[in-house]
Amino acid sequence: MTPLSRRGLLRAGMAGAGGGLLGPVATASAGTRAPVSGAAAAAPRTATTGDGTDPVVLAQEMLRHDTSHTGAGGTTLPFAQMLAAKWQAVGVPTEFIPTPKADNVHFIARVGGSGAHPPLLLMSHSDVVTVEREHWSRDPYGGEIVGDWLYGRGSVDMKGTGSAFMAALLRHVREGARFDRDVIYLADCDEEGGPYGARWLVDNHYDKVAAGVAISEGGWLLAQRDGVSPMLASLSVRDRTSLLAQVVASGTATHSSHPDEESAISRLGHALGVLSRYRAPVRLPRLVRDYFGVLADATHDPQFATAIRRLVGASGQRERDRFGAEVVRLSSHPWIHNSLLRTTLSFVGQSAGYYSSIIPSTAVADVRIGFVPDGDDPGTVVADLRRLLGRQEVQLRLVTAAGQTEEELLDRVRRDLGRPESRTDTDVFRMWEAAAREVYPGVRTVPSQFEASTSAGPWRDRGIPVYGLYPYVVDGDTVTRMHGNDERLRVDALRTGTELVYRMLDTLRI
Ligand SMILES: [Zn+2]
Repeated sequence: MTPLSRRGLLRAGMAGAGGGLLGPVATASAGTRAPVSGAAAAAPRTATTGDGTDPVVLAQEMLRHDTSHTGAGGTTLPFAQMLAAKWQAVGVPTEFIPTPKADNVHFIARVGGSGAHPPLLLMSHSDVVTVEREHWSRDPYGGEIVGDWLYGRGSVDMKGTGSAFMAALLRHVREGARFDRDVIYLADCDEEGGPYGARWLVDNHYDKVAAGVAISEGGWLLAQRDGVSPMLASLSVRDRTSLLAQVVASGTATHSSHPDEESAISRLGHALGVLSRYRAPVRLPRLVRDYFGVLADATHDPQFATAIRRLVGASGQRERDRFGAEVVRLSSHPWIHNSLLRTTLSFVGQSAGYYSSIIPSTAVADVRIGFVPDGDDPGTVVADLRRLLGRQEVQLRLVTAAGQTEEELLDRVRRDLGRPESRTDTDVFRMWEAAAREVYPGVRTVPSQFEASTSAGPWRDRGIPVYGLYPYVVDGDTVTRMHGNDERLRVDALRTGTELVYRMLDTLRI
């Protein structure tokens, strides 16, 4: 079948579907050459020879490479070699960009196009965060499928998305597609922390990743309360950003038989109690307000819709706080929605003590402070928190880079927050919107803010639109497991998400 006749069939199939007669899963198989079935999903662990066009098999292969780390970068070369073999099999040029860290590389595959438009960059970081292995019921690096779910560290963030990008693009290539632009597939390293991530790549090798527009992780496809029906498809155009702070408590070091109420550890405990009750005011910058406006129309839960409309229509800070709390309480994705609305504090680490007969002189907690663009000023937040902790006899310190002052760090955060959002008047935004409505009939689409920061910054700084996309439908529990335990993704959601990406790229075929 030639690409043209395939596309004709695809479009005829869509017209026949009446824009909604086929459910998402049925739609996903329309016009698909490779069979959509559970057979591949059950592939034994040794069968790691897929051609890359089946997103589930590909994701399993990706998950079986342990690319984890705790902030110093991972080992990504074997992962990149596995990807390279699949691209090379169809004649697509590939490249490893070594970093100064051994066996940690950026990987690029470039599908050449006509050059009528500047390249499209699809980025998906290859590294993942580490795990609390004892709290996993499955091997985090086993790529196991159990029932409807694919388990593994990175299944959601973001090897699942990487496999959707790659499988969709490879399918086009295998069909003989010609695109109106180069499409670059980038598996970047050090995105979960580390010195040689996207910023290093752009600073040192921009010629290899220059693009007119890019897509990375971000915008969620949220499920209705049933956990599977698509509700709201979002493409993120802006990221939150954060900084790390430490709460440091001091006391007298002494023998454990001389206890003192004012020990460092008990002081730290009291201070953390105060901080854990801190709720920053609800902020509703235009992007977030518009997002909630569309969410109110998208949800099938009338109570939730009413709460959102009250929030959007709130006239003062007190009302915003009250209705914001109501929205978070009623949301089936409460943590995402809380983070979109306000500055947040996350307790991510704690250390104190080194021997059981010593009362230590210091106790430290690590707190990540997340900021919303067009929300609170970071310097004001830090000053407020210091005031709040005033009576606790602890210090709040910002974790700065070597030689960096607190004020310089705060200015860096302000700059990141002030980065303009990616504009939505591009062909790539429109092709996402059209494909999302085709693949997920009845879904609402909206540009959004992402609740974390991503690799997008270095490109956005150059004025290049970067959109964030997790193309699969997720329920609240799936989102919670991201960077948590038993991270997993629905197999059928990954297949349908890949179909979304495939149809987006279909628009670029000539
Ligand atoms: Zn990620």
